[in-house]
Amino acid sequence: MSESDRLTDSLNRPLHDLRVSVTDRCNFRCTYCMPRDVFGKGYKFLRQNQLLSFEEIARLVRLFAQFGVSKLRLTGGEPLLRKDIESLISMLADIAGIDDIAMTTNASLITKDRARTLRDAGLQRLNISLDALDNDIYHQMNDVNIPLKKVLDGIEFANNAGFSSIKVNMVVQKGVNDQDILPMVRYFRGTGVILRFIEFMDVGNHNQWNLDQVLTAREILEVIQAEFPVETKQASYPGEVAKKWEFSDGAGEIGIISSISQPFCGDCSRARLSAIGELFTCLFASSGFDLRNLVRADQTDEEIAQKLMQIWSARSDRYSEVRFSSENIGRPPGTSQKVEMSYIGG
Ligand code: SAM
Ligand code: SF4
Ligand code: SF4
Repeated sequence: MSESDRLTDSLNRPLHDLRVSVTDRCNFRCTYCMPRDVFGKGYKFLRQNQLLSFEEIARLVRLFAQFGVSKLRLTGGEPLLRKDIESLISMLADIAGIDDIAMTTNASLITKDRARTLRDAGLQRLNISLDALDNDIYHQMNDVNIPLKKVLDGIEFANNAGFSSIKVNMVVQKGVNDQDILPMVRYFRGTGVILRFIEFMDVGNHNQWNLDQVLTAREILEVIQAEFPVETKQASYPGEVAKKWEFSDGAGEIGIISSISQPFCGDCSRARLSAIGELFTCLFASSGFDLRNLVRADQTDEEIAQKLMQIWSARSDRYSEVRFSSENIGRPPGTSQKVEMSYIGG
């Protein structure tokens, strides 16, 4: 695709990345994402026939690739709960123009064999969520009884399976797990795993988000610098979400994702496809565009591609930049509900 064919939105941002949520279910109940009092026994998750099939996902990805999408991320819910996700990965890896396939997972289902089958299917990179090394804090945050050791083993299996990058994401909530920042740095530096800190975000409607619980990127960096000298590292490509630092002694790098204190909407080239087939053009959107209906209504590829072009061309989202200027803080301007993170993926 030449530069002149590249699809851009109303703020001149190209479409590069597509995050595909393959399920809204999860085996964790992280308090900042799927609090148990909302996502408990009575919660109505999507039924199997409501989910996009692998063929439907692959067809849509093929159309997205025509418009410049080259990077895919599989997410959820917990993507490893979707049966035979390896088949989907293989189908996606065969699509012309797709050159990077990653997954975000809580790693609780990664065994030695699973790490290898995922890699063999064509998964290139893994982002693993881990919020603490202290057993009690870990369980307090994910609200399930899955042993921490299982997740640490999963990370090690992944690290030995030949993925091109393994990152560990830690959501930092002030007063909850900030005391684990340094233990996490000590544990992962020098291992080849890149540790990234994520400011606690006001996603969804149920996580009781409060600005007082946000430890800002600057504060996180100060905690790290108190023990480890680090130097700023250049971004690898425009639109990279994390700001990066290298340890001065050469023991690797860390990243910080500062959606709250230093928003990065100006370079945002990400679209999100929900498990039910809705397209969201922002993590904080209140509604999506129903693509599943188009796919199941026998629309031609050209007709669906036309729709994608219309949606992206009209996009003007920049929620994180206007978060504190909107009348109703924590809500997209003019709306009352945001989509849940577990529904569209991180
Ligand atoms: N279940 C998988 C996992 O946890 O890695 C994938 C889906 S999860 C929704 C994707 C990412 O969103 C995770 O790294 C999680 O920590 C992050 N996340 C969820 N809620 C968040 C919040 N309120 N603030 C910041 N990050 C959040
Ligand atoms: Fe599940 Fe991931 Fe949300 Fe935790 S952050 S509840 S692991 S989807
Ligand atoms: Fe992109 Fe929306 Fe996040 Fe801004 S708030 S970076 S537009 S997803």
